[in-house]
Amino acid sequence: MTRTDAQKAAKLKSIRSLLPFLEPYRKQLLASIFSLLLAAIATLAIPLCFRKIIDLGFSDISHQQINLTFINLFAAAFVLAFASALRYYSVSWLGERVTCDIRKAVYSHIIIQSPEFFETQQSGELLSRINNDTSIVQILVGTSVSMAVRNLFLLLGGMTMMFITSIKLSLLILATLLLTVIPIMLMGKKVRHLSRNSQDKIAQASAIAGEKINAIFTVQSFANEQKEIKKFDDSIESSFQASKSRSAARGKLTFIAILLGFTSIITVLWLGAYAVSNNEMSGGELTQFFLYAVIVAGSIAALSEVLGDVQRAIGASDRLLELLSIQSLVQNPRNPLAPTLLPKAAINIDIQGVNFHYPSIPNDVLLDIDLKIRAGEKVAIVGPSGSGKTTLFKLIQRFYDPQSGMISFDDIDLKEFRLQDLRRLIGVVPQDISIFSENALENIRYGKEDASDNEVITASKIAFVDEFISKLPQGYNTFLGDRGMRLSGGQKQRIAIARALLKNPPLLLLDEATSSLDAESERLIQQALEVAMKGRTTIVIAHRLATVKQADRIVVMENGRIVEVGNHSSLVNKGGLYSHLAKLQFTDV
Ligand code: ADP
Repeated sequence: MTRTDAQKAAKLKSIRSLLPFLEPYRKQLLASIFSLLLAAIATLAIPLCFRKIIDLGFSDISHQQINLTFINLFAAAFVLAFASALRYYSVSWLGERVTCDIRKAVYSHIIIQSPEFFETQQSGELLSRINNDTSIVQILVGTSVSMAVRNLFLLLGGMTMMFITSIKLSLLILATLLLTVIPIMLMGKKVRHLSRNSQDKIAQASAIAGEKINAIFTVQSFANEQKEIKKFDDSIESSFQASKSRSAARGKLTFIAILLGFTSIITVLWLGAYAVSNNEMSGGELTQFFLYAVIVAGSIAALSEVLGDVQRAIGASDRLLELLSIQSLVQNPRNPLAPTLLPKAAINIDIQGVNFHYPSIPNDVLLDIDLKIRAGEKVAIVGPSGSGKTTLFKLIQRFYDPQSGMISFDDIDLKEFRLQDLRRLIGVVPQDISIFSENALENIRYGKEDASDNEVITASKIAFVDEFISKLPQGYNTFLGDRGMRLSGGQKQRIAIARALLKNPPLLLLDEATSSLDAESERLIQQALEVAMKGRTTIVIAHRLATVKQADRIVVMENGRIVEVGNHSSLVNKGGLYSHLAKLQFTDV
């Protein structure tokens, strides 16, 4: 296959891949095709009525015949109106329906991706795919395809009727039409390329805006507003330039299509006029021929215009299908562990010979990690920044799989759990806490969807969340602001602890805040954590002396390896990396 053949095959494939989305709506599809056909037939019947009117209407015929001819014309108009309305409704319905389904499919596909997917995709760009690209596909299914099919029917029907009316004139028109179609095809290709370009530019612009709005404090505290405005302006301007080129190319295409189409009709009509004056055909026949030629030329012009839309939509559906075909590196097992076999109480963790590097970067991040943690044990992990502590947490939650080695819970390989079952076993209190634009109650309930209000409030009391929530103007119904802007760092941490408690997980992973909190917040968090850790296996990435002192064991990491294991006093006495870190790193020393 040549390169262009391969490209053509890919194009067809992308349209065909949309078919599964149409599959469930066969009835609506049939209704659309039926109404399209009916409307085309009614349109094609109209020139026949006109021929009769011209050939018979002005000569010596009975009123009855005149009435019949006009009633026929009226009937054709009625069928045309009815079929067009039905077509409009059924085709638009189909477009909207399919778009909703594609949006849902894309979102549910994105949300289950493992983190390496989000490392390479900008969130703004993903949103643009969900919104813009699906809207373009909607135009494709809801308008363009129907226009294309309708005009194709008219083209073929009109041509047939032209041949029936006059073979000689039809052959002539056909030759001139061929000359019209070739340049249109060539220009259409260019329009497609420009369309994809303009869509990409829009996606880039919204990605830029999304990222900066999410980091609004950083932007404003560096007084970079003007710089950001300029960046966005430039990006929007370049999207405008791209759309301008597309519109210009499309405009030229339309100009050439209409001009060439009409030129060919006028030329042929010219010859037709001679044919009538030589009595080779009747005036009615020429009128009929003329009307069919107008229908055919109109349909060619419409097809050329639709071709641009279709090409734009192919670009958009390509990108959507590309997105839908991405497979997460971390997959659910074929035969996941039965829910009844899931661990219920504190978990034994066994990490054996784990080596890991991130998929995007070949540098080893974890090397020969061997660690057994007993059920109910409290383990603190310490180590310089970048030593691999957070990465180890990610592997325990199976956001990534190690390249070699194995992690198991109660002697069951993590890969045997359904991902959601596995993660339900783990309560995570991260450093970077996500607060959603909802009230306090719903934000805490995020830990366990079906928790009652009472359960939420009990967990909040244990985590000392109740203490500040009850002082808010509407208590638990207070809206916490976009991403929790109205909360302090310590308050967010406590909300995260309440969430984790609500989940009542057999394993708790805590990533202690590195930033120092005020003494009161610190004390409350320590107390909340003490309760949270009871009866569970706990691993803490520790930054506080108080935490490491409480731990049963301390694991010291450096450059992706475990370099020391012991308790606080034994490690301090050893005088190794830990004793050095203890002096420098712990915020409460
Ligand atoms: P720690 O939590 O101990 O500070 P991390 O586990 O976050 O360390 O990071 C360990 C190493 O892995 C660092 O060198 C970091 O740059 C790298 N790293 C972290 N996340 C990614 C990622 N998503 N892709 C590639 N490298 C990463």
